[in-house]
Amino acid sequence: PTRLTVDALSRAFGGRQVVADVSLSIEAGEVMCLLGPSGCGKSTTLRMIAGVERPDQGQIRIDGVPVFGAGPTLPPEARGVGLMFQDFALFPHLTVAGNVAFGLKGDSAAKTRRVGELLEKVNLCGFAQKHPHELSGGEQQRVALARALAPRPRVMLMDEPFSGLDNRLRDGVRDATLALLKEEGAAVLLVTHEPDEAMRMADEIALMRAGEIVQRGAPYNIYNAPVDRAAAAFFSDINVIRGVSKGALTATPFGDFLTPGHADGTPVDIIIRPQHLKIDFDRAGRGPNPTVQDGTPARGTVARARFLGRESLVDFAMADGGLVLTASVPGVFLPKPGTALWLMIRRDR
Ligand code: ADP
Repeated sequence: PTRLTVDALSRAFGGRQVVADVSLSIEAGEVMCLLGPSGCGKSTTLRMIAGVERPDQGQIRIDGVPVFGAGPTLPPEARGVGLMFQDFALFPHLTVAGNVAFGLKGDSAAKTRRVGELLEKVNLCGFAQKHPHELSGGEQQRVALARALAPRPRVMLMDEPFSGLDNRLRDGVRDATLALLKEEGAAVLLVTHEPDEAMRMADEIALMRAGEIVQRGAPYNIYNAPVDRAAAAFFSDINVIRGVSKGALTATPFGDFLTPGHADGTPVDIIIRPQHLKIDFDRAGRGPNPTVQDGTPARGTVARARFLGRESLVDFAMADGGLVLTASVPGVFLPKPGTALWLMIRRDR
């Protein structure tokens, strides 16, 4: 059976619906990121699955066994879930080894073996006898991860587990954590408000807004086929081209877009990410060529160019009207303001 199944989970606080009809399922070894702005109900969802918050409605199953809603409600400690929160909440009076051993049952030889195994996996072998206050933030995070994974939870629930860390450390810790989660094979539900983190960690992203999951899919699909304008804007800046439908088409500087099902005169916004606009360097000086594979090119004049590290952002004033579009170019590209160039939309996007 599926490792974690959540059906139509709902919760209100003081008459306000905070989680509304949330359903999801996660297989063993899979990482799902629950992504959305602060206050949209992510933590409440996670806390209901953990068993520390009571749902008003819905069902939760782990390995096919009801833990809420379709039989007796199991308490948190009987659900086989591991928890990791933003403040790692290590026990200050226990050693690193004592912290990792805390949730373990069985004979002491087996416990010692499991603790040693995990400390090796999180690269803290020499730290077993230290206390939390002797460790850096990154090291404490690794102890908390080892502690949560030690009892081999079937489901790992993680609420903003990296937000207490230095920017400089964060990506490395994320990657190491992901590798260990995959090795241990739990079903993982990770709550975050950062799209970059979700893109980096998730097999599947569940995008949440005002208590509801509005879209679910692999990072590639969520990024390239957002369900609406707000979903698009959550992941990057967006360009908006305002148009008006005529027949089944909306006209833009990049040619006509198919927008069927609207009466003539309906306002239509075409949304394009900066990353999906490209500059046609070949065409510079040649004039437009309508057979080009990436669609109709449009002429723009550089208004501003900035280098951001991985990419450069170039703002263009387009030939017609007051339209300003931003294109992302990988690496360094800093044309002078006033430079005329041709822009195209990447067809594959
Ligand atoms: P997120 O994790 O997405 O930031 P939360 O699930 O923590 O969102 O909170 C969603 C909403 O529910 C917030 O408006 C929060 O203030 C409210 N909320 C959470 N827990 C409680 C509670 N125990 N009592 C009243 N309101 C709550």
